[in-house]
Formats: sequence, C-alpha cells, structure tokens
Amino acid sequence: MEAIALPDRQNHIHRKGEQPFAIRCNADSLAGAVSQRACVFCGSRVVLYPIADALHLVHGPIGCAVYTWDIRGALSSGPALHRLSFSTDLQEMDVIFGGEKKLRRALLELIDRHGPRAAFVYSTCIVGIIGDDLDAVCRRVEEETGIPVIPVKSEGFKGNKRAGYQAACDAMARLIGTGATGDISRFSLNILGDFNLAGEIWMIRDYYREMGLEVVANITGDGRVDAIRRAHGAALNVVQCSGSTMQLADMMEERYSIPSLRVSYFGIEDMSEALYDIARFFMNKYPDDPEARAIMERTRELVRREVEGLLPKLEKYRQALSGKKAAIYVGGSFKAFSLVKAFRLVDMEVVLVGSQTGTAEDYAELAAITDPGTIIVDDANPLELTSFLKEKGVDVFVGGVKERPIAYKLGIGFCDHNHERKEALAGFAGMLNFAREVYSSVMSPVWRFVPGRADAASL
Ligand code: SF4
Repeated sequence: MEAIALPDRQNHIHRKGEQPFAIRCNADSLAGAVSQRACVFCGSRVVLYPIADALHLVHGPIGCAVYTWDIRGALSSGPALHRLSFSTDLQEMDVIFGGEKKLRRALLELIDRHGPRAAFVYSTCIVGIIGDDLDAVCRRVEEETGIPVIPVKSEGFKGNKRAGYQAACDAMARLIGTGATGDISRFSLNILGDFNLAGEIWMIRDYYREMGLEVVANITGDGRVDAIRRAHGAALNVVQCSGSTMQLADMMEERYSIPSLRVSYFGIEDMSEALYDIARFFMNKYPDDPEARAIMERTRELVRREVEGLLPKLEKYRQALSGKKAAIYVGGSFKAFSLVKAFRLVDMEVVLVGSQTGTAEDYAELAAITDPGTIIVDDANPLELTSFLKEKGVDVFVGGVKERPIAYKLGIGFCDHNHERKEALAGFAGMLNFAREVYSSVMSPVWRFVPGRADAASL
C-alpha cells in the first residue's frame, strides 16, 4: 500500500529545496483526512490539568474524560487532585432536557468532598450543541462555595487544538491578578508552558534557584492555584511550548506590563541559551545592580559545569548513532526546533519534521534550520506519516501516543516525546536521557524479529 497525500493536503507539505518555501497551516483539519491532531477540549485539558490542587470536571459524555492523568506524566510534589478525572457523564435525557442541574450537583458534591482551591469546568462538543449555560452555573456555585469556579470554553468542534490553548489561557487569566504580590523579589519569573513531565520542572526550578531567581508560579506543571493568582507579581514570563501559553504571556504583558521570553529546555544549545537569555534580561533591566551581574556569573558557572559533565557521556551515543535517520512529529513546532538541534548533536540526520499546531513563522524557521530534502508537514495523518517514514528509511521516529503504533508497525525505533512519557528529556540531564533512549530504541535487537519494512506495509 503506498500512501499519498490527499490533493487538498498537498499544500500542507513542503520538501526543502524542491520549491520556494510555502506551507498552509494553522487551519482546521481536512474532513476525512483522519488528522493526528487533538480536539479543542484536549488542547485546554493539556494546559490546565497539571494544576494539582484544582478540581477538573469534564462536562460531557464519559468518553471525553478518557484523557486523564493516567495516560499522562505530569507530576505533583504535593496534592494530586489532578490525577482524578471527573465527568458529569451526560446521557440521552440530559441532552434532551439539559445538563445544568447535573453539573451543579456534581460541582457541589466534588467541592465538598475534595476541598479544591479552584474548579475548572470543561465544556465538550455536546454541551456546545445543547447550549448549557456554563457561565451561569459556575457563577452560582462560586457564590455558594467561595472558591473560583471557572468555565473553560472548549467545545471540541469549535476549532483546532490551538483554540483549546486559548480557552485554557482565558480560564487562567481569570485567576491571575487575584493574589498578593508584596513579597516577590525583583529577580523573579514565572515558568509558562512546562508541564512537569517526569519531574522536568523541578530540574528547571533548580537551575533558576542556583542562578538566584525566584520562581513565582509554575504554569502549569506541578501548578498551584494560589501561586497562579499572584503570577502578575513576577518580573518576567519564561515561555516554553509557546503554542500553548503564549496567549497568556501576551495578555500578562498587556495587563501587567510583564515581558516574556520564548525558550526551549530541550538540547544543550537551547537549554544554555534559555538560561543566558534570562540572565541577560536581568542584566539589561538592572545594569548597575551587582545582583544582576552575580546572576550572570552563576549562570556561566552552571552551564559550564553541566556541559563539561555531559559532553563526554554523549560521545558513546554519538558514535553509535552517527548517520542514522530521524523523523519528528510533535504537538508544537517550537519543540521540533530543539529536537533538530539535539539530533545534530549526536550526528543524526532529520529527514522529516512536522507538528500539529505550527504557524507559518514556525515552519519557516524549521525550513531554515533543516537540511535540503527534509519533509516538513503540518497537521499530518497516519497515511502520510507512514508514506514518509518508508520513503526516507527512518531509523527512529519521535512523537507521542498516536505516533507510536505507526513506528512499531513499520518496525522502526520510537522515542516518546509527548505528555505520556515517564522519562525526563528537558534540561542538561534530559539531553543525556534523550540520547540514551534514542540509542536503546534504534539499536534494539528486537527489530531483527519484526517483518521487513516492505512487509510491514501490509500489516
Ligand atoms: S470534546 Fe468533542 S471532539 Fe473532543 S473528545 Fe469530546 S466528543 Fe470528542
């Protein structure tokens, strides 16, 4: 079976060097193309659910709520209410007569039982269709219980995953600005767009602590409602995975004059650059302040120590992986930039790179940093990815839960770089974990026992 992109999908695919750069993106998925992309509700839940002391209630049929903590890896250092996924389990009668009463009963019962610091109520497709007034129910329950009860406008059909990010940012915007900020340091920041998969945000916080910076709020990995409420007191927003929380950073810049920096914590180059950018920000903000200079000094020392320790350990993997081919398909394209650089560090060639939510600027940057012949794809589907992986003779595929079976059916290595993973891949230590994981997968003897790639096409 040879998979070929549908005619209406052709302009979402670019082969570097074959024609001038142009790609269609940031549009609704083509009906019938079976996109890998998740729905609006999923986009909002990805961003909000790591807030560990909040109640997350999915207003909709039970099927929507399947997207729970248990298939995802965000860790908490304290409360773990986010592990529980609650649903109003809407049934036929609720669809006919409305689900507002059921929602109110569920909220009151859950708030009474679990004592959350806030509640997020996610609307799903069916709620958008039957027209339940989420705002009114949430407002009433908020008055009755005294905690913030926040509707998340995430009806699955109303756009693509990016609309879910926006819904999540809108929901958090209602919390920010409601906490006290008097005791926050001038040298402080919020971490946006890191979800503490496998404890990554703890490593990043340790770096910031060593540099002498105060972290006000994690948004949202290992997140706490009270910290988010005072996030407007930080001097800087440091935004990773910019697709998901950049809107929130923009809102905070507009309302509270907090500037933001886009960073990536993946790979040595981008991790180092992130720390230096932050240190430079405080040097520029306080040019005559000895503490700003001390932050830069500590940053240099931290990066030097980490890189010196890491490079010799990477050498073994670089020698083994040299010349192997990699494919990348991830949610946000900012992560893809770092992965391209990380694969270069171990001397591997990236032959395919794509994302669910990239913008025209993101793809232009990918086109600039990849080698000629690389396939760049927006909002792909399994048939396209299968076809590209076979065409390019890929050795390892980096993706998420929906990409894993594609790799395994073709008998090629796979590295999970999504929310389900249990291995920390961010930070300096994460680069070593990444190289080790790619090495283990590519070199695994198991591939000797799967059908050849040509045979696997008929699986
Ligand atoms: S919100 Fe809609 S698209 Fe999303 S999981 Fe529920 S039914 Fe499916």
